[in-house]
Amino acid sequence: MEAQAGAATQEQFMQQLKQTFEKLPHDIPLYMFMEKGRDNIYTQTNRQIVRAFRELSSKITFREHHLDHELARKWNVERSPTLLIAPERVNIRWIGAPLGEEGRTFLETLILVGLGQSNLNGQTQKVLEKIDTPRNIKVFVSATCPYCPQQAVNAVRAAIERPELVSVEIIDIQCEPELADQYSAHSVPQTFANDILIGQGAQSEEVFALSLQKLEPQTIFIPESDVELVKNDIVIVGGGPAGLAAGIYAERSGLKAAVVERDALGGQVATTPIVENYPGFTQVGGKTLVDIMVSHALQYVQIFPGEEVLEIRPDSPLVVQTSRRKFETRAVLLATGAKHRHLEVPGETRMSGRGVSYCSTCDGPLFKNKKVIMVGGGNSAVTEALHLFHLGIDVSIVHRRDKFRAQDFLAKQIFDNNIPVIWNSEVKEIRGKERVEEVLLHNNQSGKDSNMKTDGVFIAIGYEPSVELAKKIGIELTEDGFIKHDEKHRTNIPGIYSAGDVEGGYKQIVTASGQGSAAALSIFEDLINPYWMQAIH
Ligand code: NAP
Repeated sequence: MEAQAGAATQEQFMQQLKQTFEKLPHDIPLYMFMEKGRDNIYTQTNRQIVRAFRELSSKITFREHHLDHELARKWNVERSPTLLIAPERVNIRWIGAPLGEEGRTFLETLILVGLGQSNLNGQTQKVLEKIDTPRNIKVFVSATCPYCPQQAVNAVRAAIERPELVSVEIIDIQCEPELADQYSAHSVPQTFANDILIGQGAQSEEVFALSLQKLEPQTIFIPESDVELVKNDIVIVGGGPAGLAAGIYAERSGLKAAVVERDALGGQVATTPIVENYPGFTQVGGKTLVDIMVSHALQYVQIFPGEEVLEIRPDSPLVVQTSRRKFETRAVLLATGAKHRHLEVPGETRMSGRGVSYCSTCDGPLFKNKKVIMVGGGNSAVTEALHLFHLGIDVSIVHRRDKFRAQDFLAKQIFDNNIPVIWNSEVKEIRGKERVEEVLLHNNQSGKDSNMKTDGVFIAIGYEPSVELAKKIGIELTEDGFIKHDEKHRTNIPGIYSAGDVEGGYKQIVTASGQGSAAALSIFEDLINPYWMQAIH
């Protein structure tokens, strides 16, 4: 039964796609250029993907040429394989192939190019209008990076919005390791414009546009005052398991809700290689679990990904200002999760993206056949070390104690696979000229220091709660820095609630989902309870 239901959904999806492509006003010619006799996984994938799309629409055409063809010269194609999309109208190309997560970017690109419009919001368009000299964008991506499509789509949209000035190359780091090396792009997504680094990680479309215009990385975008006004019952800040579960429960209770997420949906789960303890799934990839959660949530609740909440004003009604719109709402749920803890040692910031990484699923592929260390002794470090090991990477764990914090079940796999562990050791410095070359280790038992050659330093030493917004509005925190809340997930400010990792506690996917659903139900009860209505407004 379940398989049949799955097949029906897939069939419906394909029908919807077919209809979407049929309505597109423009044809989408695709060209692949390759070196003679250099058929490989990327050329084959391009053919397979294009064939699948061509079955959906006759608007997509495909031509294959060698690099010495006159069209390669006309369009300045030098790398093999390069996939060009409608090169007479826009300058968008893949170096490699849209594998894995990049399939999403590819689909969105085809639709936008077929539409002939960027679908950027008005604020972003105004920023791009200010660009008056050419911008050549390079976005380095990997097939396993859930943050990459957001950034790659930002670049594609900019190229469609300003075709006369903006060009984009989406570069698969596994296909082009030497090019990635040349740019020291050892974490993805990493974005350059005219060879200047303008973004590490995924940016909101507004911040991306501003970075592209100014040719330097920006961190904040202040919207103009005439943004769209949305009135609803609850704004959920954060699209991880807590926020998504809250969205489902809020809407099913009859509340009009919206989930706003500045990064990749799913939060930490999106980059967890394997999840083995979420009930109902004996073993599932973190990103797969997120996709299932998001498509479930989307059946109920509006989700605004890549949009940042800039300010919350505890007025009546509450006001939530994002980078794109203003909400007037009756309750706010802070499900802002947690961010990677840093080692805070010399070299860590300078080498970030140049061999220092906090995401083994995103950046692991670039270190195949290389030597790396994984710092940490908890479940994350052990899970991610196993992931790197299975990718064929020479990984050693560096842990500050003589015993793992990770569950025995996971630790046993480290020993069974003979993954070296350097016990009682702390990384004191990360060194290298352009990229990581070695670390200084300190043995806290013997007191001795030693240097260790390594190509990469993966850091998984836990998380810090994301409480910047909470702090700004005076929400009380615990001594450990988590949001203080009562058993109904209420904070000290009426109308504002919390759920998930930002509250501390067990920090499991299942507990975050539980807290999200409980907080949504508690908000529903408070909003229909006249006493609380008075307290809130
Ligand atoms: P964690 O459980 O807090 O472990 C952090 C590890 O990093 C500890 O081993 C800690 O050492 C070490 N550490 C902390 N600060 C350090 C520093 N400054 N220098 C060197 N080492 C440092 O964090 P996590 O592993 O990221 O896990 C976070 C949460 O997610 C946990 O609740 C975990 O159970 C959950 N999680 C679960 C799974 C799973 O169930 N499969 C997978 C991933 C994460 P000490 O041991 O000495 O404190």
